[in-house]
Formats: sequence, structure tokens, C-alpha cells
Amino acid sequence: MRNRKNRALLIMILALILAVFCVVLLLFHMITSSNQMKEANEAAEEAARMQEEEEAREQAKLDRMAEEKSQWYLLLVNEWNAMPDDFDIETAEVEGGYEVDARVKDALKEMLSDCREAGYSPQIISSFRTRSTQQWLYDHTANKSDTAIPGHSEHECGLAADIIDSSSAGWSDPLIDEQEDLPAQKWLMEHCQDYGFVLRYPKDKEDVTGIIYEPWHYRYVGKEHAANIMSNGICLEEYLRDMGTYYDPQ
Ligand SMILES: [Zn+2]
Repeated sequence: MRNRKNRALLIMILALILAVFCVVLLLFHMITSSNQMKEANEAAEEAARMQEEEEAREQAKLDRMAEEKSQWYLLLVNEWNAMPDDFDIETAEVEGGYEVDARVKDALKEMLSDCREAGYSPQIISSFRTRSTQQWLYDHTANKSDTAIPGHSEHECGLAADIIDSSSAGWSDPLIDEQEDLPAQKWLMEHCQDYGFVLRYPKDKEDVTGIIYEPWHYRYVGKEHAANIMSNGICLEEYLRDMGTYYDPQ
């Protein structure tokens, strides 16, 4: 009789222990699940926050790029893009009566001066042109494709200069492909980007620029863009079209 009581008590105790164990296990499971859910929620929130930040950064880049594209030094003027109607600039003399946009003068002066210091002899033969000068040139050019239509020339914007090696000044026409072999021209092509200039009409880009290869026409775009354009061997049209590929706004 006593033995049976003891056994019943033992069973009850074991059942109780089992019940307590189950409760503890359940509680443990609930706490763990709750922690896991919390962690999962936090991870999802963090991921959403990071994505938001990434999107904000991307948007800021696009805004910065759009702002940069509208800067005066990236103005696109070509056969298909006329100068803005309200275009107005202040010009300043570089040398020999040749003028450019006053904001470009110092860079051009410095480039010419450094080229001379390196032992070469660059010579400006054309820079800023008024509308009437461009019109006169256009009217008097036999091959119209050699001269920009008035209102479509970078020379009218004061952002460009035609520079030759002075050894070719006596040629009947110094503005020919052979200009690229002359020492001053070689120096300019190699170093122009350091001063914010690009060789605006490169070889094999005639279809994109609408202008023949001109190893003498230098256009100011600013140092950063000039480096991007020259190092990638592209022209301004391609650069502005695919700016996201080449330009990393900080
Ligand atoms: Zn030119």
C-alpha cells in the first residue's frame, strides 16, 4: 500500500517536472522566436534605410549631373544645337587682339605660356567671333561643311580657339591634318586637358560632331571634364550623352 503511494507520488513528481520542463521549453522557444522576429525586423528596417540612402545618393548624383550639364563651360553648340537666343558673354583679350570668354582667358594664357616654356611655338589664329564675322566666314567658304552655320559656332561662344604651330603660319592653308604632326600641336594635344581644354573635333568623330577632324580647335570645358573626355578618347557630344559613364560627381 505504501509502495503504491510512493510510486504515485513519484509519477506525479515526474509529471510535474516534465510539465515544468515543457513550460520552460515553450517559454524559451517563445523568447527565441520573438528575438528572431525582432532581429529580422531590424535587418529589414536597416536594408530599407540603406536602400533609401542609396537612392538619395543616386538622385543627388543625377541632380548634380544635370546642374553640371547646364554650366556655361559644358554648353553644347553644334550643327544640331544652336547657341541660346539670350547668349551674352563678356570677352577678354588673350594676346594679339584675340579674345575669348573672360572666364577662359587665364586658362588659355597659361596653356600658351607653358607650351612656349616647353620650347614650342603656338599661335592663335582665331578665337572669339562675332555673329557678323561668322556670317562673313560662312558666306565666303567654298565648302560650307568646313565652317559652322552662324549661331552654331563655338567661336561665337568665346569658348574656343584655333591654335597652330607658328611654323605653319606661312602655309597657304595651315588648317589641314598635317597640323597634328607639328611639335606645338603635339604638345597641346597631350596637355590641353591640364588647362581645361579638349581637342574638340577628334579624328573619326565627324559623324558625331558634324565637323571634320580639326587638330587645332581647342574648346574649354573645365579641367575635370577635359580630363574625362581626353582620357576616354571621346568627343563632347558623346560625353554629354553618356555623362554617367564618365563623370563621378562628388
Ligand atoms: Zn575653330
